[in-house]
Amino acid sequence: MSIIYKPCGMAREYSPYALNIYIGCSHGCKYCYAPHTLQRRGEEYFIKPEPRKDILKLLEKDLQKNVYTEQVLLSFVGDVYCDNTDGSQTTREVLKLLNAYKVPVAVLSKGGKKMLRDLDIFKEFGDRISVGTTLTFLDEEKSKLLEPNAALPEERLETLKILHENGIKTFASFEPTIEPEESLKLIKRTLADNSVDHYKIGKLNNFRREDKWQDWGKYLQDCVNLLRPTGKQVYYKFCLRKLAPEVELTDEEINPDEYIVKIKNKQLSIYD
Ligand code: SF4
Repeated sequence: MSIIYKPCGMAREYSPYALNIYIGCSHGCKYCYAPHTLQRRGEEYFIKPEPRKDILKLLEKDLQKNVYTEQVLLSFVGDVYCDNTDGSQTTREVLKLLNAYKVPVAVLSKGGKKMLRDLDIFKEFGDRISVGTTLTFLDEEKSKLLEPNAALPEERLETLKILHENGIKTFASFEPTIEPEESLKLIKRTLADNSVDHYKIGKLNNFRREDKWQDWGKYLQDCVNLLRPTGKQVYYKFCLRKLAPEVELTDEEINPDEYIVKIKNKQLSIYD
């Protein structure tokens, strides 16, 4: 069985393939879906995780057998730059392997400047990589409350800027959007910084019914008004779109694979 897998459901909107390096995460986000998905208790999941056993061997075996021409996301489960037992050394080794096999990759993390330690490898990927962060709050106190051990908003914003200035394709995930006003402020900030190439926009789902009182139609329209004139790449997730059918979106804005990292015209292996 391949260690790189095809996500399904809402996760599929993010990426055609994914790879999980650490099963657990020290960031401790209150809205994290992973313990529920893995049927683990919070105290078993919000830990300083170890890398998965034999992950490098299993990955190499997978890459020798399969050719991936569409992006592999690091990671759906865990954060590859959280406070783990090996200082994200396995993340670095995984990236080196993926690059050696010319795999297109997307990295999503709330680790802030920890991500920059692998800037040299990101650069080696060239246009086969996109590196991003989740942006939820500009307000530091709100961020500390809901994402207690993740990098603070300013650090995440600064990291995006540095990545972009270094020629790395960047993306920002606005999922969850918890308070639309906060997310809109963050979008404006990234536009002013010119630090994001691709935006993925969704909403909070299934968390203490906190998503019930917002006007999602207004939020979606506000995002469109802000982003469409800039020509930035934007994808609006189904969970948000379905609550605002009155907002007209383009084919590109509703196609989850429009802006993923991919390789065109690569010969597939006999195993595909
Ligand atoms: S960073 Fe992601 S995996 Fe880690 S606790 Fe937060 S939501 Fe969960």
